[in-house]
Amino acid sequence: MKIRFNAITVLVLSFFLFTGCAAKQSELGRTTSKPKNVILIIGDGMGPEQVGMLLTYARQAKEPVLADRLTGFDKLMDQGGSMGLSMTYADNVLVVDSAASGSQMATGKFAGSEMIGLDHNGNRAETVLERAKAAGKSTGLISDTRVTHATPAAFAAHQAHRKMENEIAAEMLALGPDVMLGGGLRHWIPKSANDKASAVRKSLQEMTEGAVRIKSKRKDDRNLVEEAKAKGYSLAFTKGQMEAVSGKLLGLFSYSAMPDAIRVSNALDDPKRKTPTLKEMSAKAIDILSRNDNGFFLMVEAGLIDWAAHYNDAGLMLHEMMRIDETVNYVLDWAKDRDDTLVIVTADHTTGGFGFSYTGKSIPKPRSLSGEMFKDRKHKPNYNFGDPAILDKLYAQQLSYTDIFKKFDRLSDADKTPAALADLINEYTSFPITQTQAARILETEDNPIYKKGHSYLGSKTVPKLDNKDAFFVYQLYDNRQNLLALEVASDQHVVWNTGTHTSTPVLVFSKGPGGSQVPFTGIMHHTDLGQRAMDAVTVP
Ligand code: MG
Ligand code: ZN
Repeated sequence: MKIRFNAITVLVLSFFLFTGCAAKQSELGRTTSKPKNVILIIGDGMGPEQVGMLLTYARQAKEPVLADRLTGFDKLMDQGGSMGLSMTYADNVLVVDSAASGSQMATGKFAGSEMIGLDHNGNRAETVLERAKAAGKSTGLISDTRVTHATPAAFAAHQAHRKMENEIAAEMLALGPDVMLGGGLRHWIPKSANDKASAVRKSLQEMTEGAVRIKSKRKDDRNLVEEAKAKGYSLAFTKGQMEAVSGKLLGLFSYSAMPDAIRVSNALDDPKRKTPTLKEMSAKAIDILSRNDNGFFLMVEAGLIDWAAHYNDAGLMLHEMMRIDETVNYVLDWAKDRDDTLVIVTADHTTGGFGFSYTGKSIPKPRSLSGEMFKDRKHKPNYNFGDPAILDKLYAQQLSYTDIFKKFDRLSDADKTPAALADLINEYTSFPITQTQAARILETEDNPIYKKGHSYLGSKTVPKLDNKDAFFVYQLYDNRQNLLALEVASDQHVVWNTGTHTSTPVLVFSKGPGGSQVPFTGIMHHTDLGQRAMDAVTVP
């Protein structure tokens, strides 16, 4: 009896000491409570603006496609989660790219721009995934872009530049996370697969069931897919193949990035769908990784939020946010009834400088109000503060701007008219444009919006102030998506500041057992977040 009493006392006492200790040590950015599993969900480009858009949609849309108007972010907080704010800048610069930011989260050390898994001097730095592996945990990486793209690469490779995806693929395979799922088959198959008559191409076509375009970007004949098989990985190229696997798994579901979230939404109920969703990949990864008694580390990236924001495609961005939300919900539901899993949801940076904004156009008609101060007057604001029904119209978009322009590009040259472009935009989006607007978009090289001349300067010729060239770096030769965004901006009540990233700090949501979430609260830098994640997977 006495022994038992003592054991309980010790247990109760240590619980209080333990939680007290965790709270105290959080001031030093450390915790004494180690979760068994750590799941890090990264929304690429998911700044407070993007999270805010999702929350706005959930709360204010007329008919949001969300049960009880609740997002996963709301659910996480309702379940006792915490929030923090994290600075993202890389070494010696104001703004971060995904490679440096991913590296800083993965290693806890400052990185130089566009580096993968290195410190700012360019030395290899241990990553949280490597640390977790060394601690005997299972590890996994998921992305809806390419598995070798900057964010997942930063956790499992060390390279001077993010573009070295062939090298990154080989390095990731050598390290061998238990689960790798995403797109980017092109970096895993031999150069000879580009030869239409080659045996390797035929075999790949069979293996992929025609679901993935077979084209290699490798400069050599390494067949990493076969090498993976020899290392004990099961391979998956379709949702069905993925679902049949229970051991080590390499899943490559597309040539480059996986389908964007509007395509995913459109195909969700198609029984013949061959591409898994981010949530389905996450579910499979957790199913496999959670078989290890030592626990696991899993990084899940929703990488296409960033791509939508680079193109200033607001409707697509909302769909991408719904996709990460679905994944966050799944992970929370899985972790809910166990107290061994730390879930962290954050972003690497924010993209686009997005916001809903009020305008001086289409001022709403004055309205009568029942309130005492409006007995003798109408409610008549001076500006148009935006109708919440815009949110439903954004969600109703049927194709991404990129896919709309792809359709336009497939027309014959004679048919590539402003009228045809306006027709496509008006068919697939809820914010119609005129032929004049379409014509203005098609002048991509030297857009009249930016050069609309005034003669204040007399005959003097001064170079135009061209923010288009400065901040729309990926769109120098094709900025049509961004130009479309400008044409519909006032109808959408949406403003975009840039085609790149901004330095706005990002939100950090966390929920874990025994005070393990505490180190991820407050104001921090992503190197702090990385160090604390490393600490969380370190077995003492
Ligand atoms: Mg990324
Ligand atoms: Zn980006």
